[in-house]
Amino acid sequence: MDRINRLVDRLRESGFRMTPQRMAILRILLESTTHPTAEQIYAQVKPIFPMTSLATVYKTVALLKEMHEILEINLGDSGSRYDGNNTLPHAHLICVQCSQIIDSNSVDLSQLANNLAAQTGFKIDHQRLDFFGICPACQTSLIPQI
Ligand code: ZN
Ligand code: MN
Repeated sequence: MDRINRLVDRLRESGFRMTPQRMAILRILLESTTHPTAEQIYAQVKPIFPMTSLATVYKTVALLKEMHEILEINLGDSGSRYDGNNTLPHAHLICVQCSQIIDSNSVDLSQLANNLAAQTGFKIDHQRLDFFGICPACQTSLIPQI
């Protein structure tokens, strides 16, 4: 995978020591399409590398976020979810019932950012667009209100 090699190079250049644990964290971040939490990443790495700590996950995630290689979807009290899979700017649909997060490519975020930059003079370096609601699966399982 090209991206993982490029990322490993970038991380090493910034003085980050690449351990097998950190490599596994990186791979999970890049391959997950479910926008996992740090705890979910930890739960996946732990059985393979029992020496991994949650702090290592947080540290790796924080660095990648700083490098704009992954996106943090901060949901306030519900914590943060991470997107390292889809690197192109895209909108998210978030289910408030089951917390599932779906990517949407039907909004051209790059175009929108360009327009906003032109209108306001802002130099935009990253963006987030979230839509909150109830997913189709949760809609069918909702108990009707009396
Ligand atoms: Zn749902
Ligand atoms: Mn996404």
